[in-house]
Amino acid sequence: MAPPIVVQVVVDKPLAQGFDYLWDSEKLGSDPEVGLLVELPFGRSCLVGVVIKVSAHSEFKLDKLKSVSKLAPLKSFDPAALRLMNFASQYYIHALGETIIPAIPQMWKKSENWDKIPKKLIAAAEKKKKKMTQGKSEGFISESELNDEQRDALGKIRTCTEKEMEFKAILLQGQTGSGKTAVFLNWLSRVLEDTSAQVLLLVPEINLTPQLERRVRAYFPEKEMVVLHSGVAEKDRGIAWYEAMTGKAQIILGTRLAALTPIPNLRAIVVDEEHDPSYKQQDGIRYSARDLAIWRAHDVKVPILLSSATPSLETWMAAKTGRYEYIRLDQRAQGAGLPKVHLINTREPQNQFSPGDIGRPKDKSVVTKTLAHAISKNLEDKKQSLILINRRGYAPVLSCGACTWLSKCQHCTSYMVMHKAGALTKKSVLSCHHCGLAKSIPSHCPDCGNADLKTLGQGTQKIEDAIEQMWSDARVLRVDTDASKSSKGAEELFQEIHNGKVDIVVGTQMIAKGHDYQNIGLVGVLDADGRLFSQDFRAAERLFAQLVQVAGRAGRAGKDNQAGGDIYIETQYPESAVFQYLLRHDVDGFLSHTANERQEAGLPPFSYQALVHAEGRSLDKAIQFLAGIKGYLKKQSSISSALRVYDPVPKAVMRVAGSERAQLLIESDSRKQLQEALEIVDRELRENSQGRISKATRVRWLIERDPIAI
Ligand code: ADP
Ligand code: ZN
Ligand code: ZN
Repeated sequence: MAPPIVVQVVVDKPLAQGFDYLWDSEKLGSDPEVGLLVELPFGRSCLVGVVIKVSAHSEFKLDKLKSVSKLAPLKSFDPAALRLMNFASQYYIHALGETIIPAIPQMWKKSENWDKIPKKLIAAAEKKKKKMTQGKSEGFISESELNDEQRDALGKIRTCTEKEMEFKAILLQGQTGSGKTAVFLNWLSRVLEDTSAQVLLLVPEINLTPQLERRVRAYFPEKEMVVLHSGVAEKDRGIAWYEAMTGKAQIILGTRLAALTPIPNLRAIVVDEEHDPSYKQQDGIRYSARDLAIWRAHDVKVPILLSSATPSLETWMAAKTGRYEYIRLDQRAQGAGLPKVHLINTREPQNQFSPGDIGRPKDKSVVTKTLAHAISKNLEDKKQSLILINRRGYAPVLSCGACTWLSKCQHCTSYMVMHKAGALTKKSVLSCHHCGLAKSIPSHCPDCGNADLKTLGQGTQKIEDAIEQMWSDARVLRVDTDASKSSKGAEELFQEIHNGKVDIVVGTQMIAKGHDYQNIGLVGVLDADGRLFSQDFRAAERLFAQLVQVAGRAGRAGKDNQAGGDIYIETQYPESAVFQYLLRHDVDGFLSHTANERQEAGLPPFSYQALVHAEGRSLDKAIQFLAGIKGYLKKQSSISSALRVYDPVPKAVMRVAGSERAQLLIESDSRKQLQEALEIVDRELRENSQGRISKATRVRWLIERDPIAI
């Protein structure tokens, strides 16, 4: 009789260890291999798992072990992919199974499909061939069409990545519209001449920029390319992932979730808009796709290019200090100048409408007179205007004029936002953006019966209404997640802007990113001040990046010497650093100012942080639980002196959907010692938990490395 084969398998559970199973090569039709996807009996049900070890022994009695029941028609994860998973698991304090299984597309996790999958793949490949022959070429700028500055940048990138099997991180910093995309696509084009080479191109939110997808396709009509993001249909995503992991697809274009795709012949990585917070996963394993991509490039010894107009402070400092190559583009590619920045001080009376002014809106608070005049002028010039307001809905709160009633959510410590009837909801509703609760609008105050309920503040819907009223001849379009979920998808909305079917666009940050609009003459920003005084130390950095981005939508296609459009920002605090540096288009100045502030305060990137999140039935319990962790860390004499452990605090939105939430911030000047501390905490918590729920207090916990929102 052949000796038994034991495999260790990890499953999607917060359990540190793998499980031993027997492997029957004859029955499964294959010998075992590390990295294979299998199905196994687990408790009373079946789960999928990944083999992480093959041996002839087990600590357990062999006749007690169950057997692997099925093998996926999939080759094993390549060694580099497994190293990446192991690293992510360790660094982000997440079990290996909980790291690797969620990274596999749904299609492959349904073992009942495994017999049918090969047929599906063949059918899909056929369909794709047809599709590939009908490509159109949008935004293709060949190497010979690059301007001098771009050609110089491309040359530098090529020179520093000449050596094979060498890690290089490159920051490509350049104004919006300076032609960064054209540069890195030309770089990738050379890399891809080797027909076995694969490249990974990460973008922050691909469903918002199908334009980029078309652009990449235009550069590489003959290359096999797959697209991976959460908007891709389950089957297509399964196939795309398969083609990446088998080396068939040469170009892997995707959002943060693509960062964990196995890519056996990876030769280069590009992270576009590397500063974008969307690269950070905010639930489950809270990884940074950008950071993992850098680790990955380092691990497999390939170059990685980080592209941005407003690099993150982390990346910018690495470039400044020479850890990364630093390459810059300082002019706009199509000859236009940079948009002119105007700060509208909303406290100054001359900026405001007075009674009797022509064109004064009903609700005079919606937009200043100065901005209104600029919009009128821009309409006369037959240019489009973009109005940014970072809040969807009609108004953030409904209030009673007679008593103190406000539209609070009964399950959360937040207000219910008023949404007017529209394509999504037939009736106007109050809706909680945290727990999703929706209610009809009360006709009277629930507390005092007063019928005069007023809205406070403004969202996209209210601005849309006001603008339609003020410019009744203009075509107004609202672009936010509500609008894109109704009859038209986001792409259709953006197409209307591109096709010139709209005069004024009102939207949330969705309109700020990446789009290469050709006829925007004016950008207006409302309500930016809210983010100047956030408790989150990164809020200003984010606001600055967003303003640069949205400003960059203006005047992109100006002819030589023509103005690059205008951006108007309404603020009560024009003197604050964010606006002053923006006024001068001084990205480096802002970053260096921010770096000084962070250094003085000992904040990242001058230190490293982690959060322990806790949620439970009551805030007290969550706080007590975290105080326990703080006490436990104090006693760890080997590392406690290297740590700054703050007091546990309630979260900014303390209660969500009935759970009360708190967090504990742990800081250290040493990445290594922080890691050590987190591993100790993790071990201790696991011992006293069921999954991630504390046995004693029923508090649910999670450890997060490098949080970006404090
Ligand atoms: P970025 O990525 O820096 O925002 P893009 O690569 O998107 O810039 O370029 C901005 C615009 O300029 C695009 O419409 C692009 O097609 C165009 N463009 C880029 N490089 C050139 C060039 N060398 N000549 C003419 N147009 C260019
Ligand atoms: Zn009342
Ligand atoms: Zn709620």
